[in-house]
Amino acid sequence: SIRAAARDLRDLVLMPVTEFYHAETLHEGLGEPFFDRVEPAAFPQHLLRYRNQRWAARVGLDGLSDTEWVEHFGRFAPLPGGFAHPLALRYHGHQFRVYNADLGDGRGFLFAQLRDSQDGRLLDLGTKGSGQTPWSRRGDGRLTLKGGVREILATEMLEALGVDTSKTFSLIETGEALMRGDEPSPTRSSVLVRLSHSHIRIGTFQRLAFHDDTAAIDRLVEYVCRHYFPAIADLPAPERALAFLEEVVVRVARLGAGYMASGFVHGVLNSDNINVTGESFDYGPWRFAPVYDPTFTAAYFDEIGLYAFGRQPGALGWNLSRLAECLIHLIGLKPAEQVLVTFPGRIQQEFRAMLLNRLGLASAGDDADAALAKALVDFLQTTKAPFEQTFFDWRGGLASAERAQRGPSADHYLADAFAPVRAALAQYRPAPNVRLDHPYFRRPTPCTMLIDEVEALWASIAERDDWAPLYAKIAAIGEMRSAYES
Ligand code: AMP
Ligand code: MG
Repeated sequence: SIRAAARDLRDLVLMPVTEFYHAETLHEGLGEPFFDRVEPAAFPQHLLRYRNQRWAARVGLDGLSDTEWVEHFGRFAPLPGGFAHPLALRYHGHQFRVYNADLGDGRGFLFAQLRDSQDGRLLDLGTKGSGQTPWSRRGDGRLTLKGGVREILATEMLEALGVDTSKTFSLIETGEALMRGDEPSPTRSSVLVRLSHSHIRIGTFQRLAFHDDTAAIDRLVEYVCRHYFPAIADLPAPERALAFLEEVVVRVARLGAGYMASGFVHGVLNSDNINVTGESFDYGPWRFAPVYDPTFTAAYFDEIGLYAFGRQPGALGWNLSRLAECLIHLIGLKPAEQVLVTFPGRIQQEFRAMLLNRLGLASAGDDADAALAKALVDFLQTTKAPFEQTFFDWRGGLASAERAQRGPSADHYLADAFAPVRAALAQYRPAPNVRLDHPYFRRPTPCTMLIDEVEALWASIAERDDWAPLYAKIAAIGEMRSAYES
């Protein structure tokens, strides 16, 4: 039992973990070829900027003092029962469709593995900006403070919007001056800790396939299924590999649907940034789209718009094919194809479910749901009505009609383009968890995270070292999360 083990452990250490703390060292069991043991950088300064108390409580670490927090998440003193040395993970990947065998954890490592006290699932504490590793190439192993702040904002927003994402666990400013081509430099430095369900990427499998190491691929499939997909862990190896591919396809479809239904553009959907658990992670040049525009592109270096808003489902599907290739020796070509071709249908189905979820509506059957999704996307795309405002206004469907008509998008809803949406909504009732009486819905406009807002939050930190707007924004996102929670 997790609690009993945690109690035993508490007697052994001086750290104030709670009864909900339970460390694992499972990744080490995969063996040397999967990682390199590394040391964290020594930083000149440790200014605690963000600690995620909500998630700290779930893994039994909310009782730490700030000093203890910095000791573990800024200086990386090992956690009780955790790894003695951090593990820089090895992986390859396709970056913008070009294979790169020179990747790996170049500025991060796996620091610890913990159990989620609520659902028992295995969580990683991974870092970003914790120093150089054998995989740093010419990089400094560091994370800019702006990059860290942006990762907080992306993860808090996506979590509140119901997208399965890594959580930002900690951000500590580290007092170095970094040189970057895409920020006014020198710029401030930070080290971030993220909580996520595995750091095993499609690129982790690709590296093993690159080395023709089928035995290691089999071992990794076994490991992933054992710890993340236990229902299929005991199948014979070939069936298990096929079921694993199917599991990843399902989860990545949900991920893509989540991005599309939240107006989120990840920006760098390379195969080394796709977690096999389908959890969104690794936030760089992300943006939220102000309106439903399939060509909206987040990364300035994505010149051809490969990862534009509307191309994300295709990009994810392309990555899934790369994963299937790594499993071909186990599952064969035909079965792999049969699983992969289900992806477009699945993502569409998940997208409709996500739209209903965002609107707080109970399904009215497949045909009605498809009609509503089509009407809504047509409306958003042709009118360029503000994306988030539309979902905010029509939360609960026609039950919100009066409120919608009082808001800033009222003219859009009176136009002909909205008539099909209104007609479709007439078939729906609010889902049981919808709380239109929540204070959040008394705001005239929703909580958004458009690029100008992100830049303004950063500017107050950069220009005045004023963190209050950032903390206020995190609180506003928290209000939105509670409004959307069941
Ligand atoms: P990302 O774009 O963050 O997914 O990173 C792509 C690759 O570049 C990964 O192998 C990273 O570890 C590596 N990388 C990115 N930034 C740095 C840095 N400042 N120092 C060392 N490696 C880095
Ligand atoms: Mg990455």
